[in-house]
Amino acid sequence: MEDINSILSKVGLKCTKQRISVMQVLSDADAPLTVENIYDKVDGMSLSTVYRIAEKLCEKGIVSKHTIQDSDKFYYELINGEHRHYAICLGCKEMRYVDICPVHSPHIDNFTVTGHKLEIYGYCDKCQKKLNTKGR
Ligand SMILES: [Zn+2]
Ligand SMILES: [Zn+2]
Repeated sequence: MEDINSILSKVGLKCTKQRISVMQVLSDADAPLTVENIYDKVDGMSLSTVYRIAEKLCEKGIVSKHTIQDSDKFYYELINGEHRHYAICLGCKEMRYVDICPVHSPHIDNFTVTGHKLEIYGYCDKCQKKLNTKGR
């Protein structure tokens, strides 16, 4: 991956310390993060500053924002060229990367396909166990 400074300057953003730390947290993460998740990992920034920076990075197209079923939170991730799919737990809302692409892009008449989005919903082991216990 390109270094953070050059990504920021390429889209015309000043490389402030705060933007760099948000980018760093996102690039170290192995799943998309909420503003609260990012906030927990950066120093000396308010939640609203983190939110503003994340939104700015989205606006510039270097971070993408996901919404997931049954959650009012946004999940941010750094776009690094490749597309990704996620398995999302309906219990704890944990998002995991799925390292395969289960989609075969269809041929659509008079339409050029440039990408797709797909989220897989289910329950992680922990939440599945809880469900089983409740059911008994
Ligand atoms: Zn879960
Ligand atoms: Zn795919």
